Amino acid sequence: MRSHTEIETIGVIGAGTMGHGIAQVAATTGYDVVMRDIEQEYVDRGLDSIEESLSRLVSKERLTAAEKAATIDRITGTTAMADLSACDLVIEAAVENMEIKQSIFEELDAVVDSDVVLATNTSTLSITTIAAATERQELVIGLHFMNPVPIMKGVEVVVGERTDDAVVDLAHELAVEMGKETWESDDKPGFVTNRILMPWINEGIRAYDEGVASKDDIDRGMTLGTNVPMGPLTLADHIGLDICLNASETLYDELGDRYKPAYLLKRKVEAGDLGKKTGRGFYDY
Ligand code: NAD
Repeated sequence: MRSHTEIETIGVIGAGTMGHGIAQVAATTGYDVVMRDIEQEYVDRGLDSIEESLSRLVSKERLTAAEKAATIDRITGTTAMADLSACDLVIEAAVENMEIKQSIFEELDAVVDSDVVLATNTSTLSITTIAAATERQELVIGLHFMNPVPIMKGVEVVVGERTDDAVVDLAHELAVEMGKETWESDDKPGFVTNRILMPWINEGIRAYDEGVASKDDIDRGMTLGTNVPMGPLTLADHIGLDICLNASETLYDELGDRYKPAYLLKRKVEAGDLGKKTGRGFYDY
């Protein structure tokens, strides 16, 4: 396994919401980063988002203009998988789809050196199943960053069936070096976070749909009553209702009835009301 001190360049697969956030945080930490997406347009959008995010940090005086410039210099955008060949570690943050993730890992396995750790940012899919697409199952691990990556402190380290202990240690060390705090989960559906979060969100949606209380009262009840920063309906809107449905369906497939997605969640997604990002979810934006 390539050790922590040998890691200079980190590859990131996907330049979307999570990929560009991970690329930004890795580059701010001092790593060279190669960020890959399938279309130049998506790569450029990711690079623009990093630029905007760093500019906000400069305006809040949490980063100097020189540090921003140096961070941007450390990031290379690409559409070619071959450009990841010199990476010392790769973090995959492409779409949440097992077939796509397996094909990415199969490709990565052929492109990077055989001692390089491959991490996935999957929210719900099995690390062990993703790892099975490679010839290095012991070097595959879940490194589940939270959204938005530069702001959220937590990283969930997910240990696959065959993941080596040394790889688990490396994942914790790396996340901590990037300014994060970690916890560990076994490779069980939804890990710690989504296994508990998704039924909570779905129950909030059902409570609203079944007329238990108004949406404001449900969110106020949970924020004031349980001291969480956002209630289930507001949080669902922030995550994206399509992402909530996808995660709920994976948990339902794996764990059965108690994870059945709420009726209203399905109808909202079908109507295209996906939350903050489309201007309408449970609330209007
Ligand atoms: P996104 O849709 O914003 O971005 C995914 C990107 O991956 C897209 O730009 C897409 O073009 C790209 N992509 C697809 N196939 C690819 C390939 N073969 N090679 C390279 N890039 C490819 O999705 P996201 O929200 O950033 O989610 C990415 C991963 O992170 C998913 O596994 C998701 O479950 C997980 N995740 C998401 C969140 C969240 O709140 N958004 C939080 C934690 C984890």
